[in-house]
Amino acid sequence: MFRGKIKNTDIKDAIKAEKAEALSEEIDYIRFKKGFRRIERGTVITKNRIVWGFPHIRRVFTLGTGISRNIKTDVFYVEEKIDGYNLRIANIDGRICAFTRGGYLDPFATEKAREMQNLEKFFKKHPGYVLCSEMIGNTPFTEPTAEFDVKILVFDIDDDGKYLPPLEKYSILGEFEIEMVPFLGKFNKNKIELVKKLAYNLNKGRKEGMVIKSSDRNDVVKFVTPFADIDDTEKCAYSFFDMPPGFFYQRVIRSSFFIDEYSLDRDRYSKMLGNAFYSGFIRALEDVKQGKGIEGEFEVIVSDEKIFDLLKKHMIKEVDVKIISKRKQNGKTRIRFSKTYRKTAKEIRNFLNGKGVVD
Ligand code: ATP
Repeated sequence: MFRGKIKNTDIKDAIKAEKAEALSEEIDYIRFKKGFRRIERGTVITKNRIVWGFPHIRRVFTLGTGISRNIKTDVFYVEEKIDGYNLRIANIDGRICAFTRGGYLDPFATEKAREMQNLEKFFKKHPGYVLCSEMIGNTPFTEPTAEFDVKILVFDIDDDGKYLPPLEKYSILGEFEIEMVPFLGKFNKNKIELVKKLAYNLNKGRKEGMVIKSSDRNDVVKFVTPFADIDDTEKCAYSFFDMPPGFFYQRVIRSSFFIDEYSLDRDRYSKMLGNAFYSGFIRALEDVKQGKGIEGEFEVIVSDEKIFDLLKKHMIKEVDVKIISKRKQNGKTRIRFSKTYRKTAKEIRNFLNGKGVVD
């Protein structure tokens, strides 16, 4: 994790190598779309500050050895791993701005963050901090829900590239009543069995997993449950050819380690994993056969419809976006839309039409 000085020549060279780009939107900023030299992907540079890219979190496949090998402090903190979309919320010259993992200024999340009064209070007192968070609910990337609109769940506070230790973070978030990812407990390395039990219960409770942080926040690892692996397999088999290579392979490997570590019922999990893949993929096949596209539906509520237009401009770089419905609700607009995954539909159509491939 590089947190040194970024020289002007680094920025120029990165732009020349197409690893960074200069964008002029509500603010002017440089976005590192890829890692360059030691600068993390997603790093944002504005006239007066740097918002560092959020680094990868190392994954462990076995909890006991994973914790003892990677977490150096005896005491550590466990938080739930929330499956939303990653945002860094920062104060840029007095304006709250939310950036995606890839370093884009996200107009939708920025609008939501600006509507939260506690965030305004927080940034008045701590203008230099960055709130690293997951956004869930009615967002352009997560499953819609009728229970609430969106939630921004903070999991780290970045103080100029260094993350606050968990206890300090909990206390500051508590002071400003900022919602955080569920805290699952404080543990000691000599009681790893308790963490193992927790992971078992998370899997039973159909939760994604946990993130384990040392008491000084220098070390961090993530651990995901087979429930999440199987659930992702079902959802993403539907858009199989639009998924990155290795997506499914990774999940089969991870869930195998869990099933072995916990001596789970192998037949039951084999059936669940197989069913997940077949039901997702065959659903796609059936949809293509009926002439439908491979689509996922999303719903967002925006105060300003222009925000949706800006959002759409970003989304259409990767998927086709179709509006399903638009309706006014308490002065805001609720928009339901679909994203069409082009590659999957095209490949399936080709195979249904008899295309042959060499493999
Ligand atoms: P990578 O860790 O390599 O960036 P990734 O982008 O595919 O992997 P995940 O495998 O989902 O992401 O795991 C890391 C992400 O989990 C973090 O970037 C963060 O957005 C999210 N996350 C959810 N809950 C937490 C939490 N409690 N603490 C830290 N990160 C969390």
